[in-house]
Amino acid sequence: MDERMAIILVKPVIAIVGRPNVGKSTIFNRIVGERISIVEDIPGVTRDRIYSSGEWLTHDFNVIDTGGIDIGDEPFLEQIRQQAEVAIDEADVIIFLTNGREGVTAADEEVAKILYKSKKPIVLAVNKIDNPEMREQIYDFYSLGFGEPIPVSGSHGLGLGDLLDEAAKHFPKNKGQDYDADVIKFSLIGRPNVGKSSLVNAILGEERVIVSDIAGTTRDAVDSPYTYNGDKYVIIDTAGMRKKGKVYESTEKYSVLRALRAIERSDVVLVVINAEEGIIEQDKKIAGYAHEAGRAIVIVVNKWDAVEKDEKTMKELEQKIREHFLFLSYAPIVFLSAKTKKRIHTLLPMINTASENHAMRVETSVLNDIIMDAVAMNPTPTDKGRRLKIYYTTQVAVKPPTFVVFVNEPELLHFSYERFLENRIREAFGFEGTPIKIYARERK
Ligand code: GDP
Ligand code: GDP
Repeated sequence: MDERMAIILVKPVIAIVGRPNVGKSTIFNRIVGERISIVEDIPGVTRDRIYSSGEWLTHDFNVIDTGGIDIGDEPFLEQIRQQAEVAIDEADVIIFLTNGREGVTAADEEVAKILYKSKKPIVLAVNKIDNPEMREQIYDFYSLGFGEPIPVSGSHGLGLGDLLDEAAKHFPKNKGQDYDADVIKFSLIGRPNVGKSSLVNAILGEERVIVSDIAGTTRDAVDSPYTYNGDKYVIIDTAGMRKKGKVYESTEKYSVLRALRAIERSDVVLVVINAEEGIIEQDKKIAGYAHEAGRAIVIVVNKWDAVEKDEKTMKELEQKIREHFLFLSYAPIVFLSAKTKKRIHTLLPMINTASENHAMRVETSVLNDIIMDAVAMNPTPTDKGRRLKIYYTTQVAVKPPTFVVFVNEPELLHFSYERFLENRIREAFGFEGTPIKIYARERK
């Protein structure tokens, strides 16, 4: 592992569309496989499985199951139409899924009509072709006008390789790293109305902030690049934060989807909370994604102006936030107001610190001294008469800082001792604002 692995690449996005019951979520789950999410271990947090990463041969990509975006009380056809629009807006390649057991239906034709109008590449797949004898069912689907249909079976896992081969042919060629390494990329995530757009305006309205003109560049026009005191920043997905036009943009699943995509492209994530309303489950869920993705995090409590307070209010709210976000104990908290601009100027220095710590590399000899001192202070655990032996520790990656501890038996490094080592490392080096990861490896 080296630093290059920590560079965030922009992965191509595949969206799966189709009418209900053709097997979209079955295919989605097959493609992303069983991924164990630590977000699921955070109480009260359930995983929205509509967006995840997948791999096929040398390709890394993300997949959206548009069927999981529930568009309120809209009529059936309107739901499908909106889901297809999400696919057109968000994806590089669209998999149009149909059901070979039912043939072409009117709803399939509706989906096709919307997809015709898009310029995105479409791969037509016919699902539920569970055995070779059923193959002839696919010929009907030529009539949809998207070329040769690919037979697949979600339940049996058949044809997925051919499907992904075809999708990968349409991946954009130049989706590399999107900004220079010295640019600090950050995003603001949080529920609707916590004040994300207002915060962006307050930041960009700061004195000495010079907003860059990105017209005419190939960069993603939804981002806001600027410089401040000679440092370069990009606010990721600013436009996504502001747009509230289409029906699906107000749905929870869609805003989670946008947040996940913004987190993926960021170094630092500002988790924005509304001081007036306190913390609800959705805040935790969103913060959990940022933590799980290994991004640096700053907790921003906005609308501080609107809170009636005495000298204890800040401490009390801080304590409540710490209780709710146990997994974010490393994240600094700032109380501010986008409206009055109070403490807005403290935000950029905090982003800088979190970003520096996220990319920090420590010296191996110092690291090993710290670990040996820790072991001397609190002896390693034993299990069934065997004691954990730590031979050597090394930092293998940044963004986030990742450590490998070489030991006699990795299973002996229990969670509580790993926590202890993490705390010692944090006491020695700081790492405020960034998660750190520790892995045990058997010394060969
Ligand atoms: P979605 O509404 O498009 O997401 O469809 P689901 O993935 O929920 O699947 C709808 C139904 O079709 C479920 O009962 C699945 O078990 C079934 N199904 C999905 N894929 C296949 C398949 O390849 N073959 C068969 N026979 N059934 C399937
Ligand atoms: P977003 O949906 O998270 O982007 O939230 P907006 O930036 O659109 O703000 C939602 C509402 O909260 C708007 O009416 C803002 O004027 C208001 N608002 C934003 N920041 C503050 C703040 O610091 N104090 C107060 N009192 N209101 C705010």
